[in-house]
Amino acid sequence: MEEVIHVKGLTKLFGRHAVLRGIDCAIKATEVVCVIGPSGSGKSTFLRCLNGLEDASGGEVLVHGVSVHEPKTDVDALRSEIGMVFQRFNLFPHKTVLENIMLAPCKVRGLTTAQARLRASELLEKVGLLEKIDAYPNQLSGGQQQRVAIARALAMQPRIMLFDEPTSALDPEMVGEVLAVMQALAEEGMTMVVVTHEMGFARQVADRVLFIDEGVVVEEGTPAAIFDNPQEDRTRRFLSKVL
Ligand code: ADP
Ligand code: MG
Repeated sequence: MEEVIHVKGLTKLFGRHAVLRGIDCAIKATEVVCVIGPSGSGKSTFLRCLNGLEDASGGEVLVHGVSVHEPKTDVDALRSEIGMVFQRFNLFPHKTVLENIMLAPCKVRGLTTAQARLRASELLEKVGLLEKIDAYPNQLSGGQQQRVAIARALAMQPRIMLFDEPTSALDPEMVGEVLAVMQALAEEGMTMVVVTHEMGFARQVADRVLFIDEGVVVEEGTPAAIFDNPQEDRTRRFLSKVL
């Protein structure tokens, strides 16, 4: 399978604080990789380095063979291929659901209003929210807003989706509906990197789990290997707290 993301010796310093201390990993097309680890271990920074939201201090990130942190790389073009969903939904509050989803495809991809509207309604149908097409974000629950955020990211037809704790800010009863949308996306073959505390999701949906602690990948493997037979003490200690 084609390699979509290749990370070599990625380091990131904030001042003198080494947040990423040499990350290597490769992600193949259609693979779903879940990233787990303690708070402050560098998971968000890692994800943000993948699409150039964060500069690297050293090492390299290649996306489809393009070096993300090379000055000559067109980061906007690269980012339009990579959808990202954050913990906070950050929909535009003064735009309707439809307008939120149509905006980038019209501006960046040059879709006509009719094309963008069609695509938006297909995606809303997919995330189960077609009836909310004319609603404003504050008229939606957190889970609904996050599903709109996923639809909005998908409207750009990204080749990769990055999720940074997409369910962490949700009330517990809404977590399932968002994970279900993500699972469906995974089953359709989307390449996904998902930072999550939802160990059930990681176990069920991930092809591979990376355990990151203190800016390094301490251990990686299939969900069964990581959850049922972790090799490293640090992994065992982390899992004993979250499982
Ligand atoms: P995680 O997502 O695993 O909780 P983060 O990647 O958000 O971890 O953060 C890792 C470390 O980097 C933390 O100690 C955090 O305080 C620090 N950090 C993150 N972003 C910045 C920033 N913009 N400036 C300074 N320190 C930062
Ligand atoms: Mg984080």
